[in-house]
Amino acid sequence: MSQETNFIAGEWVVASKATANINPSDTNDVLGEFAQGSSADVGEAVAAARAAFPRWSRSTPQERHDVLKRTGDEILARKDELGRLLSREEGKTLPEGVGEVTRAAQIFHFFAGECLRQAGDKLASVRPGVEVEVTREPIGVVGLITPWNFPIAIPAWKIAPALAYGNCVVIKPAELVPGSARALVDIIARAGVPAGVLNLVMGKGSVVGQAMLEHPGIDAISFTGSVPTGRAIAAACVAAQPMKKVQLEMGGKNPLVVLDDADLTVAVDCAVNGAFFSTGQRCTASSRIIVTEGIHNRFVDAVAERMKALVVDDALKAGTHIGPVVDAKQLEQDLSYIDIGKAEGARLVLGGERLNRATPGFYMAPALFTETTADMRLNREEIFGPVASVLRVKDYDAALAAANDTAFGLSAGICTTSLKYSSHFKRNAEAGMVMVNLPTAGVDYHVPFGGRKGSSYGSREQGRYAVEFYTTVKTSYTLP
Ligand code: ADP
Repeated sequence: MSQETNFIAGEWVVASKATANINPSDTNDVLGEFAQGSSADVGEAVAAARAAFPRWSRSTPQERHDVLKRTGDEILARKDELGRLLSREEGKTLPEGVGEVTRAAQIFHFFAGECLRQAGDKLASVRPGVEVEVTREPIGVVGLITPWNFPIAIPAWKIAPALAYGNCVVIKPAELVPGSARALVDIIARAGVPAGVLNLVMGKGSVVGQAMLEHPGIDAISFTGSVPTGRAIAAACVAAQPMKKVQLEMGGKNPLVVLDDADLTVAVDCAVNGAFFSTGQRCTASSRIIVTEGIHNRFVDAVAERMKALVVDDALKAGTHIGPVVDAKQLEQDLSYIDIGKAEGARLVLGGERLNRATPGFYMAPALFTETTADMRLNREEIFGPVASVLRVKDYDAALAAANDTAFGLSAGICTTSLKYSSHFKRNAEAGMVMVNLPTAGVDYHVPFGGRKGSSYGSREQGRYAVEFYTTVKTSYTLP
């Protein structure tokens, strides 16, 4: 089988090692052999990026706009094919895969526009006759380290602003999903990005990722992934010589509050979508559903009823609501939390078992626990699978306290018809994103994405706020 190669200095380069990319819906289906890069590959990629930087950082906004616009156009034109590739390698359903690809195109189109809107400030100085200008410049070479759960959208929302603001890039996608990143880089390359500006090195975090952290030619790292890896990356960036700018998006243990006055249909939709769609493998998934006493039993019964109708099957099959878990390791982790929940005394209402389907894959029935308490591991640790727990509380105040009782702070939702409670929740939820009568997962692409507390570190991603990370500010004084 031929190898899907790395992209370095404008060339597709074979690596000394390769690894199989396997379909989690059908482990007999191999997407191909993908490069396993080395630290030497990272060295070459960084050298190419550094060499390309002087010219790219001074390119016109029009040139950068055109590359990003053409990229968005091609992604959109090929959304069905790329969505299929994504669903085949990651396991989210085909409509979810096509939706994510469409999102990637929209992100490129948004940042194509941002190329033309880069602005600075010109101010009068406090000293007579002096002029002050505040401008933004690219940071240099950015290293992007991405996870497996959004194989094209996350690379897109890091690559697009990096290029828009004139940076050069070395990207390392997650080992489980190199195919989508490879397809994206191929499109950007053919859209006219000059050689060396964008480099792709596939492979292990401990090898390729580590080499990126250690390389003095990388000025900044943007990472999305787990908390332990994020913490280690932040420490490495601070310890590096010279220090690297760093941005981290990590986990969540996102609460969805359901109050007595909620519209039951809306609340059930939010819970089922937020907890189980994309197999619960979203950092914004609703894993803690905090429900007030008056609606608790009706809500649990209605959610359980809806869950019985969910079809868990091959991601590419029409009619599938929930695809497989991404791999054997993640499935084992998800199933272990079913045992942990039971041992902690929570009540498993339904689901939580491994399922067999026509093809060998990592299928699991979405699980709902009730009678849980805030101190249970079930409510404290990110599971990253189709497992949700219900926490029964007395009233809104107890619900808000429970929602904020977590080390994380990415997204927080509330279902209520009360303006008073929704306004109070928006103001007091300790989260980067708040959703009223909407699932905790599912965001727009033109506004900031990110969290507080243990969920995020550094400036926000996406929308106009991305400029904070991908540029550095210069203050110039002139006496004309
Ligand atoms: P996940 O559970 O989503 O796989 P990780 O944090 O392990 O989360 O992985 C997210 C990304 O970080 C992946 O691209 C992975 O290869 C990379 N990564 C893992 N370990 C390291 C490391 N020590 N240094 C740099 N990158 C790493």
